[in-house]
Amino acid sequence: MWPAFDAPEQQFDEHRRRMVREQLRGHGIADERVLAAMARVPRHRLVPDEWRSRAYDNRPLPIGENQTISQPYMVAIMTQLLRLQGHERVLEIGTGSGYQAAVLAELAAEVFTIERLPELGQRAAQTLSPLGYGNIRFGAGDGSVGWPEHAPYHGIVVTAGAPAIPARLVEQLLPHGHLVVPVTDGRFQVLHQITRDPDGGFHTNRLFPCAFVPLIGEQGYPPGGN
Ligand code: SAH
Repeated sequence: MWPAFDAPEQQFDEHRRRMVREQLRGHGIADERVLAAMARVPRHRLVPDEWRSRAYDNRPLPIGENQTISQPYMVAIMTQLLRLQGHERVLEIGTGSGYQAAVLAELAAEVFTIERLPELGQRAAQTLSPLGYGNIRFGAGDGSVGWPEHAPYHGIVVTAGAPAIPARLVEQLLPHGHLVVPVTDGRFQVLHQITRDPDGGFHTNRLFPCAFVPLIGEQGYPPGGN
């Protein structure tokens, strides 16, 4: 059974442990730090109340404003692709619920996250600070051009689908840093991992199909579609 909305925290803890065991470890997520981080972040506190009982299902959930919190498996894969060790400065585009930001905050030194819809960004900030995530900085605006004031980053993750690899984001990566971004390719989005080479160039790893809400902005799609 799913826990009731006001179920004791313990019941959510149990569901979260099962999520990590079955949906993540059971499906090939092998980075122990990522698994431990996702065993800690209280996802049920970051979804709207009416979805709380489903917070640990392996599916995206609505978070208002026509946006979604990504499914746990996708969060795990994207986080794993950044290969974080603990000392890094990381940028996330698309704060949404704040869940991905919290997972990153467990694994890196500093997290910068930017959201174009102010209501979502504010809600995420208000939810995460009492949970003790003091190493996250929240920004409002078009993150498709990155957040140049705090660049360069060891890793950048885009949690919305881009029409092409956003060049402005690649420029904000440190050598050996990774950009993880869903990019539209024909009728599908394909998850890309772009790695900055020490000589300033970069190489691209095309991974697998995925489905994200669109990235809206200068290096994304024009507004109006959503
Ligand atoms: N990472 C989120 C998932 C968010 S869904 C989570 O863990 O819950 C994608 C988010 O990207 C949406 O909230 C959407 O508003 C936002 N977004 C889309 N285009 C953006 C842009 N150019 N800059 C910043 N945020 C953007």
